[in-house]
Amino acid sequence: MSENTPITVAYGDGIGPEIMIATLDIINAAGAKLDIEVIEIGENVYNRGNDTGIEDSSWDSLLKTRVFLKAPITTPQGGGFKSLNVTARRTLGLYANVRPCVSYNPYVQTKHPIMDVVIIRENEEDLYAGIEHRQTDQVMQCLKLISEPGSEKIIRYAFEYARANNRKKVTCFMKDNIMKLTDGLFHKVFDKVGEEYPDIEKENWIVDIGAAKLATSPEAFDVIVMENLYGDILSDVTAQMTGSVGLAGSANIGDKCAMFEAIHGSAPRRAGQNSANPSGLLLGAVMMLTHIDQPEIAAKVHNAWLKTLEDGIHTYDIFREGVSKQKVGTKEFAKAVIERLGQKPKELKEVEYKRFDVKSNPANDYRNIKKAKKETVGVDIFIHWTEGTAGELGEKLRNVLAEGLQMTMISNRGTKVWPVGKVEPFCVDHWRCRYESVKNGEPITHNMIVEQLSKLHEAGYDFIKLENLCTFDGVPGFSLTKGQ
Ligand code: NAD
Repeated sequence: MSENTPITVAYGDGIGPEIMIATLDIINAAGAKLDIEVIEIGENVYNRGNDTGIEDSSWDSLLKTRVFLKAPITTPQGGGFKSLNVTARRTLGLYANVRPCVSYNPYVQTKHPIMDVVIIRENEEDLYAGIEHRQTDQVMQCLKLISEPGSEKIIRYAFEYARANNRKKVTCFMKDNIMKLTDGLFHKVFDKVGEEYPDIEKENWIVDIGAAKLATSPEAFDVIVMENLYGDILSDVTAQMTGSVGLAGSANIGDKCAMFEAIHGSAPRRAGQNSANPSGLLLGAVMMLTHIDQPEIAAKVHNAWLKTLEDGIHTYDIFREGVSKQKVGTKEFAKAVIERLGQKPKELKEVEYKRFDVKSNPANDYRNIKKAKKETVGVDIFIHWTEGTAGELGEKLRNVLAEGLQMTMISNRGTKVWPVGKVEPFCVDHWRCRYESVKNGEPITHNMIVEQLSKLHEAGYDFIKLENLCTFDGVPGFSLTKGQ
């Protein structure tokens, strides 16, 4: 049987083929044991009328090899085309995006000479679930979903990554001062999972001030774990801070599959000129080699690459008079790295790798978790209404009630507007009416909710959605309203 590991490779568009050839030349010369299957993705596939940019038959290869080394692709302009990265993450269950951002001072110019940060971004949940609705003329909604198992998977991955890579600290960025339930859950899971890693320092930051600190003092951070949206934004910012987008690789990890790539795009204007920097894809390939249990080869490639940077052999994007020695093209850069295989950097920090298995699966499946005692204690019914003021709506609706219910407040964009306060607030056409039991705090039934919807419908109100207000083991699972 072959000792080689099967992987799937896509050469991509624009500069993709050039940087992929350079990357494969280097890792093959280092002794990587690979059986490569090539698939076609990107522009040509989109232009053949496939809106996903990947043929169905290519999934067979990906689901067989479970390892994908992917060059950047060009997403055609105009609507109707789906992002291949989003499709791949969803289809292959790639829940963790890992992006090391390192400064190579003084060889690559950067405002932040001391920086060695790994951003670990949750890839499947949050506002990226793609659940959006237009509810009224004036209001659109995007649903933010954060689950306990999803949070546990990514946070455990971050701690395992830190431990396996000799990292000392994991920081959690979130905004639970505002999003007390969703980001509050992420924070709580971080604290809970963190207890299992006494050897690793833990800290948390509210994302806004944390991002400000990261942008000015990146040396204060080590591994940072974040929800999807914060991670999307801050991983790009952090990579750019190192000096060039051409330098960072990224891994997308799932329980069954993994995808490795550069963080940059296909740079179409550079295509075919032998000028692009292959380093981002090469560092993606280095992460792939640790993942497929070839850590020695990964370290050999990475150290030769560091030595090449140190020797001043630079592509145009990082070339600087006085620091660089030789401006080279993609092919010449690859040749220089190959010549240095077996060498180690003298000034930059040498890397060492070991294989790590991440046990990030939450212990509990949703079918066998211990369920909390759940009671429905109210309902928020949302109404599309444009006939008058908040006070007038309150007066009309206070008598449109199912038996046993009282209306306790109306809010507009989250701010309480009825009972009316001292100032008539600015409102839009989207009203949330809260109904609770006439016996304060008592549970209500689903039939009462259905009856309330009927009453509203009969009275001519256009209800657009509802959210039940539940307690779980007596703890409210809903937020109070601003002003309530
Ligand atoms: P880009 O990353 O391709 O280019 C941004 C800038 O960085 C350009 O000036 C480019 O010349 C430079 N650059 C990028 N990679 C470089 C490298 N390896 N060496 C030297 N310079 C490099 O971003 P863009 O121009 O916004 O996007 C171009 C195309 O890439 C678009 O179609 C976009 O959709 C696609 N894209 C694909 C991916 C992916 O496949 N993962 C990611 C981002 C963008």
